[in-house]
Amino acid sequence: MKAGVLYAKDDIRYADWPDFTPGAGMVKVRMRVCGICGSDLPRVLGDAAHFYPVILGHEFAGEVVEVGEGVETIKVGDRVAGAPLMPCLKCEDCQKGNYALCRHYGFVGSRQPGAFAEYVELPERNAIVFNENVTFEQGALFEPATVALHGLFQADFRGATDVAVLGGGNIGILAMQWANILGARSVTVFDIDDDRLALASRLGAANTINTKDSDYLEQAMALTNGRGFDFVFETAGQPVTIKMGFDLTAGKGTFCCIGTPTRPVEFSAELWEKMNRREFKVTGSWMSYSAPFPGREWTLTAHYFGTGELRLEDSMVFKRMPLANIADAFDMYRIPGAVKGKILLTND
Ligand SMILES: [Zn+2]
Ligand SMILES: [Zn+2]
Repeated sequence: MKAGVLYAKDDIRYADWPDFTPGAGMVKVRMRVCGICGSDLPRVLGDAAHFYPVILGHEFAGEVVEVGEGVETIKVGDRVAGAPLMPCLKCEDCQKGNYALCRHYGFVGSRQPGAFAEYVELPERNAIVFNENVTFEQGALFEPATVALHGLFQADFRGATDVAVLGGGNIGILAMQWANILGARSVTVFDIDDDRLALASRLGAANTINTKDSDYLEQAMALTNGRGFDFVFETAGQPVTIKMGFDLTAGKGTFCCIGTPTRPVEFSAELWEKMNRREFKVTGSWMSYSAPFPGREWTLTAHYFGTGELRLEDSMVFKRMPLANIADAFDMYRIPGAVKGKILLTND
């Protein structure tokens, strides 16, 4: 078979790779669409890969072409999205259902061969079946959609509340949609890009605020009678948005950090004290799994893409490129800010 193989730092090529038959309990999926994730960039352009050669790609969907011995719940022809985490299921964290805490895990697309390939092998339990209403492109968005939803679960989200989403990237757009699906009274999206804010409005944000405006904080507070927001979801991982959360979270509210920071974050004493005074809770959110594995994050994503309540708008996709052009796809990330939205690799 063919695959986009990473041979060394900054050396990714469309090349031959040994074909396989699925092992016991495993399914073989013909990849149809696989997204490039922000976490793939340091693996390809930097030193973050665990070993070489490796096939990356963990945001994918396709059709099952073969099932291994003992597979009962998945059949040939099923349309599936892949849940990439392979927790050990034996350690104490796994037994408690805290799969993201497992330290003995595999991961399709970093530790195991991923979906930048014509075919990918997946444990039966990691294949999420979706129906005909859901496109393969939506299937490739399951992973980011579940990451966003897990953040809401991690924050013990309740409806009838005012929500702020910091960052209008795809995770932010998905978190905004989930907050609406789960009954938010209003969702306000914050970003510096008017195009992303317009996208947020089209997909259901009640308000948008461009944080380039010098008075953005006053605008935000005016929306909540000066209280701040009951739930604030940070999705950009930037020091500025992380600090913004401390300004915007209401008394007794919850601030949930989904974005992964890559730089130090420095707080003034005054800003930190807001957390003390307002007694809001701050939590992180990591990956997208809960018990029973892989969790309702995944089944709800299949359900709400199926009903049309969770939406993938075309402008969330920056470009579609054939898998054979994988090297060109990663080249596009060399210019900072050039890629806006998701690049999807296709295998038709
Ligand atoms: Zn990812
Ligand atoms: Zn474990």
